[in-house]
Amino acid sequence: MQVHHFDAQPLVVPPGHRFPHHKYRALLERLQGEPDLRLKQAPAAGWSDIERVHEPGYVARVRDGGLSAAEQREIGFPWNPDMPVRAQHSVGATLAATQVALEEGVGLNLGGGTHHARADAGGGFCVFNDVAVAARWLQASARAERVLVIDLDVHQGNGTAAVFANDPRVFTLSLHGEKNFPFRKVASSLDVDLPDDCGDAAYLAALDAALAAVAARFDGPQFAFYLAGADPHEGDRLGRLRLSSGAMAVRDARVFDWLWARRVPVTVVMAGGYPTDLERMLDVQVNTVRLARGLWSRWNNAGHFPETP
Ligand SMILES: [Zn+2]
Repeated sequence: MQVHHFDAQPLVVPPGHRFPHHKYRALLERLQGEPDLRLKQAPAAGWSDIERVHEPGYVARVRDGGLSAAEQREIGFPWNPDMPVRAQHSVGATLAATQVALEEGVGLNLGGGTHHARADAGGGFCVFNDVAVAARWLQASARAERVLVIDLDVHQGNGTAAVFANDPRVFTLSLHGEKNFPFRKVASSLDVDLPDDCGDAAYLAALDAALAAVAARFDGPQFAFYLAGADPHEGDRLGRLRLSSGAMAVRDARVFDWLWARRVPVTVVMAGGYPTDLERMLDVQVNTVRLARGLWSRWNNAGHFPETP
């Protein structure tokens, strides 16, 4: 399975910043030597791809350092010259993974899932909305028209919901903590609010119900994006839902089984994760990658794609 990353464009944050910027490199290192993975540096997305979703004025302010203090506060990172470069590569990794998924059934970006970014603004550690850009690329290039976004990051996918609010061809599902950021939520096609300390059984029951509702309400998805946030995990310092590692694995498996049953290709993005214990969070993320590889093997064994490395 081909896996895209953008490790050559590290996240540069001021000393003491609370964002766990080491996690990307650490995940990449954990995956070195995993069988059947081809780790690949992603190209930058073009500005014209990004502008299918984002307003040119906002894109220019990110590119040229013209973001106001308020805009930078909302993003959560101060602007520096690395910000636009990294943001372009983060989107580029999801675009590249999406091209892979069209051919092989599954593509994966070791970052991405920046779902709080909307057309004219960033927010919540998100500059550009990679999944929205890739969904628009699928539509613009006539690769797929009907797109499903399964957002299981613990935070509501407000930016993605806003981008696709008036596009019935894109179904946005978000399962998230009711009391968590963002405090003003934007309606997705289907939102599932979960209470603090939700626990494994209630979470998985809610996921099953949500996937059944998607099947009933959204006919014939041609492509899916899965935001496999690690932040519902009990080791997360922002998540509040406290799912066990076992439940996180069952979560991923149920999503992949649902997609496989319908033969829907998927781009998997890692989205959030704010670990108290980095290694435990990496265990969750590595497992997501392994389960995605299992899905990739199913496509491969079914002979869906002719060329394997
Ligand atoms: Zn999150």
